[in-house]
Amino acid sequence: MGIEFIFSFIGIVGGAAAGWKLKFLTASGARMAFLVGSLIVLGSGIQGLMLLFLFFITSSLFSAFRKEEKAGVEEKLAKSSTRDWEQVAANGGVPAIFAILALWTGDDVWTMGFAAAIASANSDTWASEIGPLWKEAPRHFLTFRKVERGTSGGVSILGTGASAGGALLIAGASLLLLPGTSLGGAGVIAAAGFLGSVFDTVIGGTIQSRSVCPECGLETESHAHCGMATVHTGGIPWMTNELVNFLSCLLAGILPVLFFW
Ligand SMILES: [Zn+2]
Repeated sequence: MGIEFIFSFIGIVGGAAAGWKLKFLTASGARMAFLVGSLIVLGSGIQGLMLLFLFFITSSLFSAFRKEEKAGVEEKLAKSSTRDWEQVAANGGVPAIFAILALWTGDDVWTMGFAAAIASANSDTWASEIGPLWKEAPRHFLTFRKVERGTSGGVSILGTGASAGGALLIAGASLLLLPGTSLGGAGVIAAAGFLGSVFDTVIGGTIQSRSVCPECGLETESHAHCGMATVHTGGIPWMTNELVNFLSCLLAGILPVLFFW
């Protein structure tokens, strides 16, 4: 174990503890963040960990930014800005798997996939944290009808811009941090990350599970509201928001692998 691993370990413990203390993570979320961070350091080293931190820190900051204006959105999305283990695994699980595959195979294409999966998670999180601040109601990507803020499948100019920015930041950081990443490679990471986020919107607005609260009538992705179980109204019941996040990251990660095979 080199000094790099010791510093990385301190960084992961410190990051997870700070995330929990600042209420960006629940206790279970902090434990999952520790696991994800450890696997990423093992697979992609301290450079990979820095990409993860970039995602975690910027997403947490945007999550806290003008929080009171997004209260209704949080309720709809079934996710508070305090992430539990399922949400951490949904966004960090695929990058962790790709980092381990990179170590196992010794092939850089998996490192590209790792970066693209993080780019997708960052792109999607930025879009869902910044998008709702847009003055106008988002429109559904299929029907183009106005939908309430926080509705999966809704898109806005600000959200789309945030999505592109989130993918570009991770691609730019990969160019600087990950050895052997070319400008073209960074372009592929950015494109794959953005496409992952687009996929999330498409699946989120079509087959993702939708529910309604029987008490107050709120359309939500949550399993419970007003102290009672919500009623399933559409989409595939097991296609939860976390699963859609996970699949989006998976798609983003696979794209560079296919592209550079
Ligand atoms: Zn309710």
